[in-house]
Amino acid sequence: MPTPPDADARRAVAPVICYPTDTLPKPDMALYGKVREGMIKVSEIIAEPREAACFEVPAGYVFRISSIEGPQVGDLNLWNAHDLGERFYSGKTRALHGTHVTTGERMWSSLPTLRPMATIIHDTLDWYGIDAFGGSVHDVIGTRCDPYTGNLLQGGHYHHCCHSNLTRALAEHLNIPLREAEPHIHDVMNVFMCTGFTRDTGQYFMKASPVRPGDHIDLFAEIDLLGALSACPGGDCGSEHTSDVAPCHPLKIEVFAPPPDVLKDWTSPDTNAYDRTHGR
Ligand SMILES: [Zn+2]
Repeated sequence: MPTPPDADARRAVAPVICYPTDTLPKPDMALYGKVREGMIKVSEIIAEPREAACFEVPAGYVFRISSIEGPQVGDLNLWNAHDLGERFYSGKTRALHGTHVTTGERMWSSLPTLRPMATIIHDTLDWYGIDAFGGSVHDVIGTRCDPYTGNLLQGGHYHHCCHSNLTRALAEHLNIPLREAEPHIHDVMNVFMCTGFTRDTGQYFMKASPVRPGDHIDLFAEIDLLGALSACPGGDCGSEHTSDVAPCHPLKIEVFAPPPDVLKDWTSPDTNAYDRTHGR
């Protein structure tokens, strides 16, 4: 189409933030700081390379995901431990907090509950910011690598994409068939993954994660959680995924109990207050 004469003026219109967050309830970071100071480790589990692991975190507890042997990206799913219908809503989290999340930001649940499931209370990669390519860490843009997209683009049947790893782990944890577990797998938070959009073509890109062994992210469980974490076959996601090509490393998940009494006045967030009458 011909470029209209006022094209530059139209392009020069300043953007507005879709969802200003000034009215979002603010997380009580001082309280979470006290939880972190005195928390006591109760369990740990390893997500082996190109596999996933499930873990449960009671409300008020903290879970930590750590890089342990080498740079590695993790694909994280979260559910309400008592209702798998309430699960992490990557799209709305992205709308509220932007393309990447860090300390003080939250993982929100699906409609109609739309409430904080977990709050990031510590992130050793919070220094990274946004790099010269527009890349940043802890992506909530991506979906999860899956064998269907792999089949569409490359053909073949690769079985260790995060989607399959998460499906197997959930099926095993709940002792249900794979076909029953698979629909519960949802778009993830890509822990430690460094991504962005190219300026010229607007394409989704990834680059080698800046994570190093010892780096970790701590999340406070706002409700009773069931989690699943896959150590992505993409490794540090610096080259490719949906294959066994990239070097892969395990990820450690630790669960910590809060110190006694710190949370005595704290309660889990309520489900969303919208009346659900939808105009009828
Ligand atoms: Zn993956």
